[in-house]
Amino acid sequence: MTNFQGILDTIYETAKATKNKGEVANYIPELAKIKEDHFGMYLNKLQGEDYFVGEWDIPFSIQSISKVFSLALAFSMLGTKNILTRVDVEPSGNPFNHLSLLEQEEGIPRNPLVNSGAIVIADILVSELKNPKEDFLQFVRDLAHDQSIQFNEKVAASEAKTGYNNFAAANLLKSFNNLNNDVEAILDFYFHQCSIEMNCKQLSDAFFPFANQGSCLKGNPHLNKNQVKRINAIMLTCGFYDEAGEFAFEVGLPGKSGVGGGIVALLPGEFTLTCWSPGLNDKGNSKLGMLALESFTTQTQLSIF
Ligand code: GLU
Repeated sequence: MTNFQGILDTIYETAKATKNKGEVANYIPELAKIKEDHFGMYLNKLQGEDYFVGEWDIPFSIQSISKVFSLALAFSMLGTKNILTRVDVEPSGNPFNHLSLLEQEEGIPRNPLVNSGAIVIADILVSELKNPKEDFLQFVRDLAHDQSIQFNEKVAASEAKTGYNNFAAANLLKSFNNLNNDVEAILDFYFHQCSIEMNCKQLSDAFFPFANQGSCLKGNPHLNKNQVKRINAIMLTCGFYDEAGEFAFEVGLPGKSGVGGGIVALLPGEFTLTCWSPGLNDKGNSKLGMLALESFTTQTQLSIF
């Protein structure tokens, strides 16, 4: 039998002993206050026990990981076809906030996990939801079965103040008629979704439906199998900025990272796994998180390949 706890413990020791833990994101001033020496992991097995190590219970800013939740909510409300007329599903091979490709491709974002794509999804949710921010937060709480999950208003305000690149992307999208609502309202929603704070356990729990054919921990259906297949495919090909190929190559799982230093990955039918280590590599992914997940799938020999 695989010694999951032993493997997590070894990864934790290695991470703690690593001197260069990467650089904390500082383009959102509130995020720059986090120290890079946090490290936690939480493994949620579909059958059997959970395993965890380090600071798995400290909430952190989920940032781009929220893009998976917004895509899931949009898919569950509108189906996949209606959304894919406004955003593509191809890897961008560029950083998450790249703009020139968006101009070249006439306002159709490469995929829903780059910023411009997530802004289009935010526009859809602002149109579809009665109380967009509250309803979205409730969706995430329901996925995780945890009503304590909150926005961090300071992080949302901090990003709104310095989010010039996202304002540029939204204005460009608007100029190509790919946004229906006001830029301000869409970005207010987008900055709030990114500011949600969750710990490793809450994220592993919330990602459970993507490993479990659409049903959450308690067995409630949130997505159908086709939607789950498509979301997992988008995570695998587009979930790690312009390092998605590297993540597939080294780790071999669908997943999503955020500039708060979180990474969530999953093996359908088997497990969800979250790692948090706030120091980033030069592609914007958690430096030790990438290494931790590579070590996990190599030692357990559990990956989609
Ligand atoms: N809120 C961040 C931004 O739009 C998310 C970036 C990320 O985590 O990739 O810049």
